[in-house]
Amino acid sequence: MSVDLKTRLCAAVDAAFDRQVDFLSELTSHPSTRGNERSAQDFMARELGARGYEIDRWQIDLAEIRHLPGFSPVLGPYEDAVNVVGTHRARTGRGRSLILNGHIDVVPAGPADMWNSPPFEPRVADGWLYGRGGGDMKAGLTSNLFALDALAACGLAPAGDVFYQSVVEEECTGNGALACLARGYTADAALIPEPFAEKLVMAQLGVIWFQVHLKGLPTHVAYAGTGSNAIEAAIPLIQALHEMEHRWNAAGHRPADYAHMDHALNLNVGRIEGGDWTSSVPAWCVFDVRMGLFPGQSIDAAKSEIEQVILKAAQGNAFLRDSLPQIVYHGFHAEGYALSQDGSARAADAISALDRAHHDITGDTLTRTAITATTDARFFGLYADTPALVYGPRAEAIHGFNERVDLDSLRRVTKATAMFIADWCGTQEV
Ligand code: ZN
Repeated sequence: MSVDLKTRLCAAVDAAFDRQVDFLSELTSHPSTRGNERSAQDFMARELGARGYEIDRWQIDLAEIRHLPGFSPVLGPYEDAVNVVGTHRARTGRGRSLILNGHIDVVPAGPADMWNSPPFEPRVADGWLYGRGGGDMKAGLTSNLFALDALAACGLAPAGDVFYQSVVEEECTGNGALACLARGYTADAALIPEPFAEKLVMAQLGVIWFQVHLKGLPTHVAYAGTGSNAIEAAIPLIQALHEMEHRWNAAGHRPADYAHMDHALNLNVGRIEGGDWTSSVPAWCVFDVRMGLFPGQSIDAAKSEIEQVILKAAQGNAFLRDSLPQIVYHGFHAEGYALSQDGSARAADAISALDRAHHDITGDTLTRTAITATTDARFFGLYADTPALVYGPRAEAIHGFNERVDLDSLRRVTKATAMFIADWCGTQEV
């Protein structure tokens, strides 16, 4: 790529950056938690349509994805699960194709009084944009879009097909990205600007979600014997699960990408519910668990170990022995994924292109990292033979309070993305 083109792309990103921040503010003001993504997706479809992309907007149909590898079970209906894809078709078809993927769903904001300002009324202060989803990952949705805008401002378009994806369900199943695959969207590489501080993610964990249901006979507290309380019965089960977590994290089980991490796999009891009345012994309790898996660890083997651990702990409990817990899967069945294990020439080329783009913008070498969460990259890497590069801006307190994204970092990522697209796809005159 010529020095002149690099300079022009950077100038185009700078010229549009105030608009990009306004766009990010508007997008972040849509409270697109699970089931409430529609208005944000309407906004994305409008913006993509106004730029001339061919729009595909559809509701996820479980029948089309249920049988596919990577599918995660869901409890609720999918009436509000709508994906949006904007397609650029290259005139020449000479260049390599690219998927620019981002998720529109955000996690719940939690108690509003823990925020310094309302989570869905984004504000900019001291170079940061605050708001739920601003970092994870609406900033990335804007860097993908405004990088393409920068090419257009230079009178250019990618010389390969580009599929701009705004997907739902990343935070609970990944079925949004899976539905894009099922619909036929494939490319030579994928870029996902999740907010990992301008580092390239070489490995990500798998995640499994499950619920444990406990129940027994209700009684008045005055007659309760020991061990008949469904809420207290959860405690030894949780302890047994933490012992399993400890075993899974043992040094001998860690793949190379995680060898240096003592505790990459976290078991989180994220929700608990149970009982009906303070003076009634609780007859039921349900708790929700998230557990991490290493890349290469089998989901089926993990599930059967989890089931054995819970049943064995229940056998040792007088109350549970007669009324064994039930395990319900209702979300992530996500395998781990390691770009580091992709030995293809295409993966090497894509990583080199991103290395160059990052270095041109920052002057630094692109740092590699292994993350202790999952992303939608697994669908491209594991099930579509497509190297998936996760590289996005710096954010803080994602999934926490006062979530924020660093706007200088967003500007750099947008520039690096524009250069990556121009390099990877090549360019054609508009
Ligand atoms: Zn995310």
